[in-house]
Amino acid sequence: MPITVLKGIPASPGIVVGPVHLLRWEVPAVPATVIGLDDVEAEIERLRIGFARAIERLRTIRERAVRTAGEAEAAIFEVQISIIQDVELQERVERTIRQQFSAERAFDVVMLEWRDHFARSPHAMLRERVSDLLDVHIRVLTILLDLPDHDPVDLPKGTNAILVTSDLTPSLTLQLDREAIAAIATDAGTRTSHVAILARSLGLPAVVGLLDATSKLRSGEQVILDGTTGTLTTRPSATELADAATRQRREEKEGETLARLSGEDAITRDGQRVTLFANVDLPDEAELAVANGAEGVGLMRTEFLVVGRAAMPDEDEQYEAYAGVIRAFGTRPVIIRTFDVGGDKLPVGGWPHEANPFLGWRAIRMCLDQPEIFKTQLRALLRAAMLGDVRINLPLIVTVDEVRQARALIAEASAELKARGVAHRADVPVGVMIETPAAAVLAGSLAGDVQFFSIGTNDLVQYTLAVDRSNASLASRFTPLHPAVLRLIRMSCEVAEARGISIGVCGEMASDPLMAFALIGLGIRQLSVSPIAIPRVKLLVRGLRTGVATEAADAALLAPTAAEAEQILRERLVAEVDSELLHA
Ligand code: PEP
Ligand code: MG
Repeated sequence: MPITVLKGIPASPGIVVGPVHLLRWEVPAVPATVIGLDDVEAEIERLRIGFARAIERLRTIRERAVRTAGEAEAAIFEVQISIIQDVELQERVERTIRQQFSAERAFDVVMLEWRDHFARSPHAMLRERVSDLLDVHIRVLTILLDLPDHDPVDLPKGTNAILVTSDLTPSLTLQLDREAIAAIATDAGTRTSHVAILARSLGLPAVVGLLDATSKLRSGEQVILDGTTGTLTTRPSATELADAATRQRREEKEGETLARLSGEDAITRDGQRVTLFANVDLPDEAELAVANGAEGVGLMRTEFLVVGRAAMPDEDEQYEAYAGVIRAFGTRPVIIRTFDVGGDKLPVGGWPHEANPFLGWRAIRMCLDQPEIFKTQLRALLRAAMLGDVRINLPLIVTVDEVRQARALIAEASAELKARGVAHRADVPVGVMIETPAAAVLAGSLAGDVQFFSIGTNDLVQYTLAVDRSNASLASRFTPLHPAVLRLIRMSCEVAEARGISIGVCGEMASDPLMAFALIGLGIRQLSVSPIAIPRVKLLVRGLRTGVATEAADAALLAPTAAEAEQILRERLVAEVDSELLHA
């Protein structure tokens, strides 16, 4: 068999050689078997045994999740156990078996009905259970049909496995055994989709957007995953393996070179300071961010408190999560973004079904419509603000009204704390994400109501170019250097400068040296990047002159296409900065 190289999207750097662990998390096909009347009781018994095994399995997974992620995160598995134990479900399936359906067929039919019924429910609580029902549906059928168990739970430690799956759902993410899984490969996803951001947070090499890797690979076969080039090499030859080992060593050496920069300042050759902040998606990352020289947090995503969870976190739990990150940064700024749930960041149980989730009920819209959820978060933030330099960032803003409503709720949250006699800071600076064309165009109007802007290029590119950021088939059309995007960024910078408010970029663009070069040229002096990207971006900053970056960006702004803008910027970057580490 020849070597095959599957090409995907580089999502998180690093090279891993290991066996594939194929995780097919989809409802298996169920044969339409009719059973004899004499077999009914045996079939019901088989169903009960299947249920018992599924519960046992879920208990094991739950225990592990408690150890690795905590009680609250593991609660989704309790929910799934309670679904299987539901008397009505058991009776419905047994009644269906009595109509001469096989156990798996009866269970399949009932689950399809239930999922449909729950998905259409007017009650959010019931709709939120749909993805748990799906997980239970898959798990029980896998057992009843005696299919290979794809759970990543039982892999021996140190397996160095490469998890290959269609997409990484929140409940799968929770089950990831970090001691056995060394890398991730998915059919779905792009550089800016949730799975890619999460892989970088976890420090796991990842390739996403492979489209059909799950149908081309088999569990157990050896592959080379290269998260830097975005490739998966199957049936590698001895030469391929030796080459991978060489590249692994080279990446390690580069890492050492870059690590030496952590104590250096991010100052350009012409003496301009660029502030390098870190994006913190999971509180655990704060330590790495500090070690890599982050000067603060430019974006703390708070969705980890919601995504993959069965219940919303209470005020105290949130306070502790924020406090941990704030304490790690001492007096340095920590910009915390309010819940940006929706789109591809969904709580367990999904979300009300929407035809266009990215244009739907998400982020600030959800928060303003559910003031109790929002105010719980705001109270936790105002309390945590006593511990350091906290700033509140509002996502997906498209109108000034949203900022004003959010500010009114911040005032209410403060009044509630005051009434309770709880220490807090009432005047926390408030800023907005500039991540829609509306916000960029209206930056001048927004400037009067906020203290800072934070440009979210992942969404700004998505909404400006009308390209779904998580659709692997559109990945080549997701071009952050499109002149329309560059112009919106330049416009926002000009407004911020004229109005004297701070502006930074916290989207993935900032982590890429070429794009960071463009951003500095557009006027940005504050970049917030994933912790692992800080040293490389610092190397870039120290190697360039802002005048050259500005000229390059001015020329790119006038380019008719993204490809031409990229070419202009690349030529000037290569001529300006002599480190090969930046020219990839
Ligand atoms: C962005 O949209 O660029 C951003 C930083 O936010 P998120 O990726 O969480 O949507
Ligand atoms: Mg965004």
